[in-house]
Amino acid sequence: MMIFFITYLLISLIISFFSFGKRISFIEALLINLLLTPVVGIISVMKADNNIITHHYTNTSICAYCNVEVTDRGSLCPICRKEMEVTIIKDGKLGVA
Ligand SMILES: [Zn+2]
Repeated sequence: MMIFFITYLLISLIISFFSFGKRISFIEALLINLLLTPVVGIISVMKADNNIITHHYTNTSICAYCNVEVTDRGSLCPICRKEMEVTIIKDGKLGVA
């Protein structure tokens, strides 16, 4: 019986490690694994989007609706086709132009 719990915990931990670099935290993944079984855990980790890597270029704008980064300013968002609010990232600080 003890072996079952140890195996269950190990599987949960291994799956949780796949959450790194994704938009789900290790703790979230681990809780899902432990409470909702590792089968649900695998699905949650796989379905989680990858982290958005923010580059600190001066001509980068972020879509206010879907949080997507676009390098040319004033254009439409490639995802939602909405007019982009021009947000310039300069030296890691967010500022509206
Ligand atoms: Zn968008």
